[in-house]
Amino acid sequence: MKIQEVLSYIEQLAPRHYAEDFDNTGLLTGDSQEELKGVLVTLDCLENVVDEAISKNCNLIVAFHPIIFSGLKNLRPDDYVKRAVVKAIKNDIAIYATHTALDNAKYGVSYRMAQQLGLENIRTLIPQKGIIKKLVTYIPPANFEIVKEELFKAGAGHLGNYEESSYSLNGTGTFLGNEDSDPKIGEKGKRSTIEEKLLSVTFLPHLESNILKTLFKSHPYEEVAYELSTLNNQYDHIGMGAIGEFKEEMSAKDLRNTKNTFNTGIVKHSNSKNKKIKNVALLGGSGAFGIKNAIQSGADAYITADLKYHDFFQGEAILLCDVGHYESEQFTKNLLHEYLSKKFSNFAILLCRCANKPCKLLLNRWQKRLKLL
Ligand SMILES: [Zn+2]
Repeated sequence: MKIQEVLSYIEQLAPRHYAEDFDNTGLLTGDSQEELKGVLVTLDCLENVVDEAISKNCNLIVAFHPIIFSGLKNLRPDDYVKRAVVKAIKNDIAIYATHTALDNAKYGVSYRMAQQLGLENIRTLIPQKGIIKKLVTYIPPANFEIVKEELFKAGAGHLGNYEESSYSLNGTGTFLGNEDSDPKIGEKGKRSTIEEKLLSVTFLPHLESNILKTLFKSHPYEEVAYELSTLNNQYDHIGMGAIGEFKEEMSAKDLRNTKNTFNTGIVKHSNSKNKKIKNVALLGGSGAFGIKNAIQSGADAYITADLKYHDFFQGEAILLCDVGHYESEQFTKNLLHEYLSKKFSNFAILLCRCANKPCKLLLNRWQKRLKLL
């Protein structure tokens, strides 16, 4: 089996076109056409992770954060990024990063955080807007089913949990071809009035060129009449963050069990201790940008990381909790490991043993002095 087979499967969960523009997801080193030996799953791919991959005979490292984020000017092993990259290249190890593609996937990073916390009815906190495309085309009845089937095969009509969604109407079309025309129905130079069916299908933008190619190939007309538009609808299956609810309301103090859930000694939080908590929004990693969305969503608490001093002033209406960047994303490697293990049970899919937590917190004495939750 080629490495590419694993990568294609990851991209079913977290398609690369879900990633943010600033990001650097996908295959960072290595050749996807190499035979797969084994997979090592990690949050960060540092040099010690490459060492572990070598020792365990894994030639694919699936990481969450991309070790190459901005460009490299040389490949001298003189910093932690280049040391990992150079070692991976020297040892024919492919490094693949999912990052914001998995952040924006419905069942990705934040969804997993919400599951770990025991929330129910989990939805996307910031669903993307203006992403769904719509194709409307007009087809003679004799060709209608063929064109529709081919468009379905190309991915049209697939949205969220549904496949093969379409809408059709019967109507009448007219056309008059000039001397250079070659109409499949009627004659050139004469107006034709014929029965046509309108077909409307929605699809995701990365499929557009393939869907149009399929339309032109399967539609009988010389000039295919079609309309493309972008819908302003929200799409719950792509977007950052998650929101869900506890079965029963709890006090902000009770929410202290987030410390256990996220294995952190300290949760930095806003001064909203009297608040009752039922709806909780979450966003893995640096999530200050989502505070307003969390408040608008009606959440009682927002659990994320990397909040700054001034961010906490927005915590009048909502309990803001910073559980730490690593801590908020730590379950991501389990998510990827479980996802891959189910599919590729004949291959070694291993969880990385390296603890690459870049910062540690002083506990106990300091925690008491600072009166943290
Ligand atoms: Zn992160």
